[in-house]
Amino acid sequence: MFDKVLIANRGEIALRVIRACREMGIPSVAVHSTADADAMHVRMADEAICIGPASSTDSYLSIPSIISACEVTGATAIHPGYGFLSENARFVQIVEDHDLTFIGPSAEHIRTMGDKITAKDTAKALGIPVVPGSEGGVNSVEEAKAIGADFGYPVIIKATAGGGGRGMKVANSEAEMEKAYLTARAEGKAAFGNDEVYIEKYLQKPRHIEIQVFGDGQGNGVHLGERDCSLQRRHQKVFEEAPGPSISPEERKNIGEICANAIAKMGYRGAGTIEFLYEDGEFYFIEMNTRLQVEHPVTEAIFGVDLVREQLRVASGMPLSFTQDDLSIYGHAIEVRINAERLPNFAPCPGTITQYHVPGGLGVRMDSALYDGYRIPPYYDSLIGKLIVHGRDRPEALARLNRALGELIVDGVDTTVPLFHALLQEKDIHTGEYNIHWLEKWLDAGG
Ligand code: ADP
Repeated sequence: MFDKVLIANRGEIALRVIRACREMGIPSVAVHSTADADAMHVRMADEAICIGPASSTDSYLSIPSIISACEVTGATAIHPGYGFLSENARFVQIVEDHDLTFIGPSAEHIRTMGDKITAKDTAKALGIPVVPGSEGGVNSVEEAKAIGADFGYPVIIKATAGGGGRGMKVANSEAEMEKAYLTARAEGKAAFGNDEVYIEKYLQKPRHIEIQVFGDGQGNGVHLGERDCSLQRRHQKVFEEAPGPSISPEERKNIGEICANAIAKMGYRGAGTIEFLYEDGEFYFIEMNTRLQVEHPVTEAIFGVDLVREQLRVASGMPLSFTQDDLSIYGHAIEVRINAERLPNFAPCPGTITQYHVPGGLGVRMDSALYDGYRIPPYYDSLIGKLIVHGRDRPEALARLNRALGELIVDGVDTTVPLFHALLQEKDIHTGEYNIHWLEKWLDAGG
């Protein structure tokens, strides 16, 4: 096992990794910007080192600073968390060139899956069903219109380098195509430095279903079922659950095996998520994330495994601690994302936490880096906590969520907690009948 692990991240996910390291007896190193000197991950790690000013470009995204931090502290491996450098193939290459271990897949797998066009081609070649769409990139408005006419509207134009819901535009008719196409290109260029786009059939009422996979890098692959992340705002998840309320055990087994086999064939190492849209009983691949996901705790809850522990094991060359046959689902888990945002517009709302109280009791987990008096800096993501509940079945999990939200106190800033109180009043949430458009429609109708 590693002598020391450096965590190239901040916030709740840095804490999450520190916790796994501590249970495994691995010393941890936190890195932080000047704005995060008082952050909880800095306090909780065995060592901490400042890597630059507030701007993430100069700190959490600064490859030279992070490599230097390893040299200075003697860390031999880097856990990237999610976001920041977690899916940056160049970073992984540099880490390896310095004889350090990247806790994640190979640079090559990150590169292949990070480009959505090559990811889709790879998925198809591995036997994974994909959304119907263009063969690769689309290079002109005329070509885009021809594809629209061929597949029928609506279609979605997506930046191949896109992520976080950016670089995607829907065209409902040929008249909308030119603007949608040019906007998606421009967004791809501005946000990711790559203006290549491709086109997919825009599905009308799909659910977002993603399969958690794990590879040991030695040709073995397993799946840990699905998560349903259909409740989204601006293509961003806000409420996630496992298992998916609409997925039968047979469907889970079928799609799970397809994904596990694909991972095995690739020789993939570490945690990954294969994302699908699911409509009328069919799965359609949209992308693969080659890292730990924000919503991984719902999978941990129903399978009773620590996914970060497995990431550390596999990265150090050890086998996974379980086989497919060892895995079985117990109960139902739900996660809600608590953001420092002001409703109804979800405007970021940084500030000082004047009172913080964490809910507890059976089946309640709160992953957060908050504490009384903490100042949420304005420079980073607005996610301040994840409340995860686990129950014997979905109704019990929902009742527990309601109870836990009632105990949670986060004073001093606005949060998305009222959104979840309101959602729990909705019949569709209790019956599980919603698709990826449900939340936006509900919000547009006044919530
Ligand atoms: P990102 O990498 O930005 O997260 P994804 O490709 O994962 O982008 O898509 C994010 C979300 O956008 C999906 O969960 C879904 O809500 C919506 N979406 C993407 N592709 C389609 C499609 N072909 N039809 C309908 N919705 C889509």
